[in-house]
Amino acid sequence: MNAKDKENMSEFALIQRYFKTLSEPAASVLLGIGDDCALLTPPVGCALAVSIDTQVEGVHFPHNAPAEQVGRRVACCALSDLAAMGAQPLWATLALTLPQVDSAWLEAFSRGLGAILKRFHTTLIGGDTTQGPLAITLQVHGSVAPDQALRRSGAQVGDVIYVTGCLGDGAAALAYLQGKFQPEDAACTYLTERFYAPEPQISAGHALAGVASSAIDISDGLLADLTHISEASGLGATIYIEALPISPLWCNQVEPTQAQHWALTGGDDYQLCFTLAPERQLPQSQAWQAYPIGVITQTPGIIILNHGQPVHINTGGYEHFR
Ligand code: ADP
Ligand code: MG
Repeated sequence: MNAKDKENMSEFALIQRYFKTLSEPAASVLLGIGDDCALLTPPVGCALAVSIDTQVEGVHFPHNAPAEQVGRRVACCALSDLAAMGAQPLWATLALTLPQVDSAWLEAFSRGLGAILKRFHTTLIGGDTTQGPLAITLQVHGSVAPDQALRRSGAQVGDVIYVTGCLGDGAAALAYLQGKFQPEDAACTYLTERFYAPEPQISAGHALAGVASSAIDISDGLLADLTHISEASGLGATIYIEALPISPLWCNQVEPTQAQHWALTGGDDYQLCFTLAPERQLPQSQAWQAYPIGVITQTPGIIILNHGQPVHINTGGYEHFR
């Protein structure tokens, strides 16, 4: 195809060229991209975990963001929900709204999306392609034993609260990408990667399935997401600011209160926050980490302590925190 033919590409040709290639053969897929529906066989005895995530240009990622990075981000953010449920990824469907057919953009987007899907053994089994302002919706499907799925509602008083990695990276990255924070070079590279490819914590979720009492992925900020756990469990929580893992790559380049604020309230970190009964052994693995940051309590609400002293955090809109 020459360049002009590509830009005039039919919807059918576009799907064949950029998305059929992301459809890996899998025993669970009887029929993939190309018919009115995909035909699938879920693993015997497992529940299907299903989640859908939309990313709109200018809302979830900057205008003119590199297409490969957009593809990676879409896949990472969607797969994070499967991680939070303790599910193993199986399939994905893609609803793509494009302003025009731009073959260079599609090529790079497909490459980025495909790299992440492949790494997590997720095969693309269908989708929809329409014209309009750039928006990308990815639905992901995974499998989990029904009695082992990690819900938000299972936390108990005395459970230890953990997170799987650094907090505040998403907010620091957004400030950097918006030109509001100019960190040193090493931090720029790190934050750009954390924004566009926040590692879905699939290994952690899998190891914690049937072990942790509750879990959520941190997409809206630790306080907001931990509140989902505490409210769903009918309990409260205390967290220790000094225990929050914050990356040394950028942490010392802002005021300590700014770093803590980003770690507590910033979105887009995609670490897991989970709770574990104190008598249960934390699964050990080289593949992921766990940092204890607090404890589940009886009284509803979240108390934040800084070396034992209560602090009030202005959460900007989330009113039910204390
Ligand atoms: P229908 O009109 O029956 O919905 P389409 O013409 O929209 O079918 O799609 C044809 C096939 O291509 C279907 O199997 C659909 O799942 C797949 N498809 C369409 N768009 C995409 C996309 N962006 N990514 C992956 N598969 C897609
Ligand atoms: Mg049809």
